[in-house]
Amino acid sequence: MKNDVIYSIVVPLYNEQLVINESYRRLKKVMDSTNEKYEILFINDGSKDQTRDIVGDICSYDENIKLINFSRNFGHQAAITAGMDVALGKAIIVIDADLQDPPEVMLEMIEKWKEGYEVVYGKRKKREGETFFKKFTAKTFYRLLKSITSIDIPVDTGDFRLIDRKVCNALVSLPEKNRYVRGLVSWVGYKQTFVEFERQERFAGESKYPLKKMMKLAFDGITSFSYKPLVAAGYFGGLALFIGFITMLIGFIKDIANKTSILDIGFVVSVNLMMFGITLGCIGIMGQYIGRIFDETKARPNYIIASIINKKAVDRRYEVSS
Ligand code: UDP
Ligand code: MG
Repeated sequence: MKNDVIYSIVVPLYNEQLVINESYRRLKKVMDSTNEKYEILFINDGSKDQTRDIVGDICSYDENIKLINFSRNFGHQAAITAGMDVALGKAIIVIDADLQDPPEVMLEMIEKWKEGYEVVYGKRKKREGETFFKKFTAKTFYRLLKSITSIDIPVDTGDFRLIDRKVCNALVSLPEKNRYVRGLVSWVGYKQTFVEFERQERFAGESKYPLKKMMKLAFDGITSFSYKPLVAAGYFGGLALFIGFITMLIGFIKDIANKTSILDIGFVVSVNLMMFGITLGCIGIMGQYIGRIFDETKARPNYIIASIINKKAVDRRYEVSS
C-alpha cells in the first residue's frame, strides 16, 4: 500500500497549551486552501502542561492530525527529526507552534517547490517582539558559524522550511546524534532557495528556549560542522608557549643584570593563572567534541515515542493501492 499525502506539516510542541488551538486554526485554514491532501504532525516533546490533551481532542474530530507523544522532553531538534521520520508527504514543512513563523508563508514555499526547488527555507527579514539579547546572540552565532564552516549554512534562518521527499529521505538516513537540522539540510545539498518573511511575536506564552538550550544548539551546530575550534586550541597552546618563553627570557636577563631574581611573584602567578585558564578552556572545547563522540558510540536513539494518536485513522484515509 502507498499513500497519497502531498504535504506533511511538522510542528514541535513543548508546553504550548496557550498557542495550540490558534496554531491549529491558522495551519488548517492555510492547508485547506491548497485543496490537496495533507497531514499535520504535532510532536509533543514531553510537555508537562495540557498540550497532550488539547491536541488529543483535536485528533478526535480531525483526521488530518496526528499526535506523536515522546516519552519525555528530548528537545526541539529531536522533535523535528521524529516528524521527518514519520512524515508521509511528498513535501514536508517544519514550522514552530507559536506562530512566530506565519503559516501563510507556507503557501509561498509550496509555490517555490512546485517550480522545482527541493528546499525552500524561510529567511527572517525582521524579528518582532524578541529581546535585544536574543537577536544579538542569534545574529552573532549565525555569522560565526558561517565563518568557521566549509558548507554554506544560510544566516538568519531557523528550522522553518519546506523540504522535498528526496531531501527528507536523505536526512532520515543520517544516523547522527545531537542534530543541528538546519545545518544538515544545507549539508545534503539539492536545489535550494528561500522566501523572506517577518518573524512575528510569539502568539502566547514564553520562549521554550532558555539560554542553556540555546548554548547546546549553538555547540551542536559548531561541533557538527567544524573542527576549527580544536585547531584554534592548538594555536592558543602555541601562543601560550611563546608568551611563557619570552617572560622566562626577560626574567633571565634581569637576573643576570641584577645578579638577583627580581621577577615579581604577582606577575608569575597571574601568567600561570592565564596559562591554566587557556589549558582548561581548550580541554573544555575538546570535551564538547568528546561528549558528542561518546553519544555516537552509545548509539542511543534521538528520541523515544511513547504513543501515536490517530495514526491508523490518518494512514487509512490516505492509503491508495499500488
Ligand atoms: N520546542 C520543543 N522542545 C523543546 C523546546 C521547544 O519541541 O525542548 C518547540 C516549541 O514548542 C516551539 C519550537 O520548538 O514550537 C520553538 O521553540 P520556541 O518558540 O520556544 O523558541 P524561540 O522561538 O523562542 O527560539
Ligand atoms: Mg518561538
